[in-house]
Amino acid sequence: MAGATPSCVFCAIAAKSTSSNTLLYSDDKVVAFQDINPSAFRHYLVVPVAHIPTVKYLQRKTDDYSLVSHMLEVGKTLLNRDAPQSQQYRFGFHQPPLNSVNHLHLHCLALPYTPRWRSIKYLSLGPLGFIEAEKFLEKIKPLSVQSKV
Ligand SMILES: [Zn+2]
Ligand SMILES: [Zn+2]
Repeated sequence: MAGATPSCVFCAIAAKSTSSNTLLYSDDKVVAFQDINPSAFRHYLVVPVAHIPTVKYLQRKTDDYSLVSHMLEVGKTLLNRDAPQSQQYRFGFHQPPLNSVNHLHLHCLALPYTPRWRSIKYLSLGPLGFIEAEKFLEKIKPLSVQSKV
């Protein structure tokens, strides 16, 4: 709600100060947990421990690039472990203003969508839609990383 500044729900989860979400993974940079309203056979969220509101706050710099790479790696590892039979994975971010929670979160989906119409939430609609993690990484890849192997 505008005006109110409730404590951020994802910060609370990352700080392990809530028991409503069981963490699937955690380290000093990121935590992963199940989406409370899953859109697919497996639907996980990977969020940074630090409060970063949206992808708009990420820049073409090594720290941000390695954070997002790490989030993607964690998501892939979890889905490979928990949904190896899935025919398709998707990893990406909702770009504001169409993001739900203002704390950066990587959606990790192992398809099929449940129910099917949920796929509409993950369409790539140019600058307003869902952006694939790999595509986003290209956008913020620092020049120093490009010149590496
Ligand atoms: Zn937060
Ligand atoms: Zn989202």
